[in-house]
Amino acid sequence: MARYIGPVCRLCRREGEKLFLKGERCFSDKCAIERRNYVPGQHGQRRRQKITPYGIQLRAKQKAKRMYGLLEKQFRLTFQRAERKRGVTGEVFLTMLERRLDSVVHRSGFATSLQQARQLVRHRHIQVGGKAVDIPSYQVKQGEVVAVRQQSRGLDIIRLALERAERRGVPQWLELDRGAVQSRIVQLPTRQECSDLIDEQLIVELYSK
Ligand code: SF4
Repeated sequence: MARYIGPVCRLCRREGEKLFLKGERCFSDKCAIERRNYVPGQHGQRRRQKITPYGIQLRAKQKAKRMYGLLEKQFRLTFQRAERKRGVTGEVFLTMLERRLDSVVHRSGFATSLQQARQLVRHRHIQVGGKAVDIPSYQVKQGEVVAVRQQSRGLDIIRLALERAERRGVPQWLELDRGAVQSRIVQLPTRQECSDLIDEQLIVELYSK
């Protein structure tokens, strides 16, 4: 599966806001947005041109794509799947992104960032319903239990991530059992429980052109 391997903070700087892609660093004064809040590149500090309606839609899409660590093909494919489902396309799309296994692992606090969560999944540290699943895009269903496998529970990165997550808390649609290092989807996430940094309507408009 292809993924972005370039500088991560650059993505936040391009969008002009914190996308929280680097775990704890995002909450410290080392965050690049705190130090250099202008567009990256040679002309980044020039006065910005007026943005067109298409530009606004494009930026909304790019931001969501970057927040979930996806490339265009995967992102669009998820959108097309959301279109085929019942309900409001934008909301269904967002909840599908939230229910990706890597996102659930991150939200549960087993990893400090989405990138780290994806690595845990790819390296088979994560089980769904008692079976190892190494597909980050796997859609976790209501009632399913996502757990760190027994042998991996002592890993320092997981222990540290759980300590940090204790301060941050987990979303209401997840029920976390810290002792067993597992979480269960008690209900599907609603729009209100997904990130309010994303304007899904703009993405729908862009892809409907
Ligand atoms: Fe974005 Fe985090 Fe880097 Fe700050 S530290 S620019 S929020 S990825």
